[in-house]
Amino acid sequence: MSEPAPRGDRLAVLVAEAELDVLLVGDLVRPGDSGPDAMANVRWLTGFTGTSGFAVVGEGRREFVTDFRYTERARSDVSGDFERTTLEGRLVAELAGRLSGRVGFDEDSTSVSSLRKLQEAMPDGASLIPATGLVEKLRRIKDAKEIETIAEATRLADEVFEWLADRGMAGRTEREVAEAAQARMRELGSEPSFPAIVGAGPNGALPHSEPGERDIAAGELVVVDMGAKVDGYCSDGTRTWATGEVSGEEREVYELVRAAQQASLEAIRAGVSGAEADRVSRDPIADAGRGDLYGHGLGHGVGLEVHEAPRLGKTSDDVLEAGDVVTVEPGVYVPGSFGVRIEDLVVVESDGARNLSTTSKELRIIG
Ligand code: ZN
Ligand code: ZN
Repeated sequence: MSEPAPRGDRLAVLVAEAELDVLLVGDLVRPGDSGPDAMANVRWLTGFTGTSGFAVVGEGRREFVTDFRYTERARSDVSGDFERTTLEGRLVAELAGRLSGRVGFDEDSTSVSSLRKLQEAMPDGASLIPATGLVEKLRRIKDAKEIETIAEATRLADEVFEWLADRGMAGRTEREVAEAAQARMRELGSEPSFPAIVGAGPNGALPHSEPGERDIAAGELVVVDMGAKVDGYCSDGTRTWATGEVSGEEREVYELVRAAQQASLEAIRAGVSGAEADRVSRDPIADAGRGDLYGHGLGHGVGLEVHEAPRLGKTSDDVLEAGDVVTVEPGVYVPGSFGVRIEDLVVVESDGARNLSTTSKELRIIG
């Protein structure tokens, strides 16, 4: 296979197609103090791993700018395709002064005050044009190295899943289990890609419940949703386990979710829409009379961010492409009683889905 063109070159094609002279890439909500998600586009494009930096990309222009704190980091991180500049004064105002022509910017990553600063400091004749999602469109399709990194993050999380299952959970609080999982992840040289979710019994019916002080009882279903991070890339996976024998209804719902997940895993391949993949998982749950207890979409893309394009859900317009890395995570939540979710991370290929998750999906009784 031939090497893909440099990321800056691929973005420049989209910038020209959008009839822009340049695209400003970076976080204009907290410029200079951005979190990893807000820096994901800059990191993907340039390699920069710091918290303050912008890229400017257009025909013949590949520029990375940062402030004095990151001059050294920029030298070691940033791809040689980019010219590196350190700004001395106020970051946004100085950046604005370097822009000209039709300048694309990401409305979703721009605060009103940053927009005002840009407008005030831009030279005459320059104009700001909303342009959202150009980098995300490219980031969606992972190359072989990115897929290997996400696979490694998934292996690490699977190791922590095994470790948790071996230790059992009954008699400990959800918070203790969540913190133990995160500590184990760090011992293995990784870090959590998001705060681990541990929801036992009725808390399992709240898809994003925060792990609390409630003791996990024997004979409950426990939903554990967690991921690891390797070189900035995330994993995301969920297992539901039983702390002892559970009721017939709980077992029935577990097997229903497992079958729905299996059906969608078998349906996913390049060319299938996010809405269709979702429907395949939803039909058996609706047929069992529990359709209204499956209140979220089937899945989402995962990469430098734990939630990114594409989206698999009823209202998704996305069509899956080879190289997408997506979660497959149907769930059924019985209010006040229990929840079941099973989530794998898969690579979309031309003829199917390659599952990166290896933790068993048999209903496991862990004690
Ligand atoms: Zn998850
Ligand atoms: Zn997820």
